[in-house]
Amino acid sequence: MASVDERARVSEKQAVLLEEDLLKLEKELENKYCQLGKNVYEAADHMVSEINDTVDRLVEAKIRLRDMREQNTCLSYLAANPKHNRFCGKCGRPLEGKE
Ligand SMILES: [Zn+2]
Repeated sequence: MASVDERARVSEKQAVLLEEDLLKLEKELENKYCQLGKNVYEAADHMVSEINDTVDRLVEAKIRLRDMREQNTCLSYLAANPKHNRFCGKCGRPLEGKE
């Protein structure tokens, strides 16, 4: 039968092991949060450049259409305006019209 001292030692040893596990789990959790942040950052960075590419292509297409139809396109809102309008019908900004 184990003495009181022995049982106290075993119990303290278990507590130390449990504390080590706890610290490992805390570190593991921290690394996972870190990895999540990195993944989100990379995904967002990738999406931002894809969105910028699409916006560039959209603006280019709108400008081509404006030139084809001789409309005044407000580049702030990409709103097409009749060619004689001097101001955007949507946002009111002055249009750099084709004379
Ligand atoms: Zn506008």
